[in-house]
Amino acid sequence: MGKNRYTDAAKRAAIWHHEYLKKMRSCRFDTIAVHGIYSMQEALDFNQGSIIEPIYMSTSQAYRDSDEMEAALGYEIPTWCYSRIANPSVYYLEGVLALLEGYGSEVETSCVATSSGMSAIQSAVDPFLVTLQGQTNKPMNFVATAQVYGGTFQQFAIRKQQERNIGWRKVIHSSDMKEWENLIDENTRFLYGELPSNPCQGFFDIRALADLAHKYNLPLIVDSTVATPALLRPLAYGADIVVQSVTKSMSSSGFGICGAVISKKNITSSIENEEMKSDFAGYLKLLPNRDNGPNISPMNSILALNDIRTLRTKMDLFSRSTLKVARFLEQHKHVEKVEYLGLESHPLHSLASSYLYLADSEFDELYPGKVNRYGHLMSFLINGDALKTRKVFDAMTMIWRATDLGRIKSVATIPAISTHSQQGEEGRKQAGIPSNLIRLCVGGEHPDDIIKDLDSALSVLDGKKINVSYPEYSAGGASSARIND
Ligand SMILES: *Cc1c(COP(=O)(O)O)cnc(C)c1O
Repeated sequence: MGKNRYTDAAKRAAIWHHEYLKKMRSCRFDTIAVHGIYSMQEALDFNQGSIIEPIYMSTSQAYRDSDEMEAALGYEIPTWCYSRIANPSVYYLEGVLALLEGYGSEVETSCVATSSGMSAIQSAVDPFLVTLQGQTNKPMNFVATAQVYGGTFQQFAIRKQQERNIGWRKVIHSSDMKEWENLIDENTRFLYGELPSNPCQGFFDIRALADLAHKYNLPLIVDSTVATPALLRPLAYGADIVVQSVTKSMSSSGFGICGAVISKKNITSSIENEEMKSDFAGYLKLLPNRDNGPNISPMNSILALNDIRTLRTKMDLFSRSTLKVARFLEQHKHVEKVEYLGLESHPLHSLASSYLYLADSEFDELYPGKVNRYGHLMSFLINGDALKTRKVFDAMTMIWRATDLGRIKSVATIPAISTHSQQGEEGRKQAGIPSNLIRLCVGGEHPDDIIKDLDSALSVLDGKKINVSYPEYSAGGASSARIND
């Protein structure tokens, strides 16, 4: 008998799961988001019929005998052995993310979930930053957009460039393919682009950039956090790897921090590591991330999974509301400029419009066909200096002041003093982030109420006073008091 009875059963299970995945792949976006890879059979055979994916709050899995243990630890049978490496709840999240990023294309995908968006980026780029044979003395580099999330800026500028002498070659105009190409040399390891960029709405032609990367035998890594797979799936246009801060729009409830790396099979890279190239996310999960430990908790995985079920309809609502708010701000006398790809006035509007569509809008009877949606991140610049900008910001009473985005509740921040403060004046200049810029992420409230709040906040520049009073006790504690009002 030995290990065979386990490895044979594993082969039969693999066939079953492959068939199930094939069936799920033929479903529409919302169906995949709702069911993911959690089947009725799995529920009934392994989870007491639980219709919702269980949260496996457990460090490790036990085995029937030494044969099964040996097969499991050799990755010869499906196993989750130890929660730093794998866990059923985490796998349910990874499965749905892989399906959604590959949705509507023939691209076969896999996913590894991570503890945060930043650890997803770290996991995705690190395997390429290794010394190649015969290249020991030459510093390596990567080519990436200057317009990136503040945390990414720090990871690239400090952790990679300053501490490890790995050059970050910044692309200032990310839609200019010549600029990208001029920065590539024989020591370049990957191309990296964020789109739409946070907060400035940078955008590039993904197909053209993927072609350029592959011409030089390099992978293209895309941070697609702001769009989510409901609006954009870069792997279908040739990108090799997608990173997501699942913390943001994908988990709009805002319960916790969470990230993911999703890759297609057989990525392009000049590095001779066949295992890595054939299934990048699978490789990360079983090897580097096992050793480095940037894993997500089962609890956070299921909380994120639960939000993802309604991702498409939420992104539709958020995007429509954001466009309405953007149009309001665009005509306001105290607003110098609005940066939102959905506005015709944005220089990258038509390029973005060829990529950003609401998934399955062509099958929705509400719409005449495929419709563009641009997400819920936007920025606007106040007509005035940093002080005036802070006055408007401080006068908001419904929009939360927080360094956050992607929420079901509207949130705003001034990036120059928060998310993008550490990169300094020069770094902000390159990324196009002046001190009068407010980043706004419109949530699920009725947009008219958000417009009302913005209108009243902007009226401080006409000399109006906004009175904000705070109660002395919280509403959460009030239920126990017998007070007549
Ligand atoms: C927030 C964010 C990240 C980092 O994600 P965390 O989950 O906060 O670590 C990366 N990229 C973009 C575009 C982001 O908005």
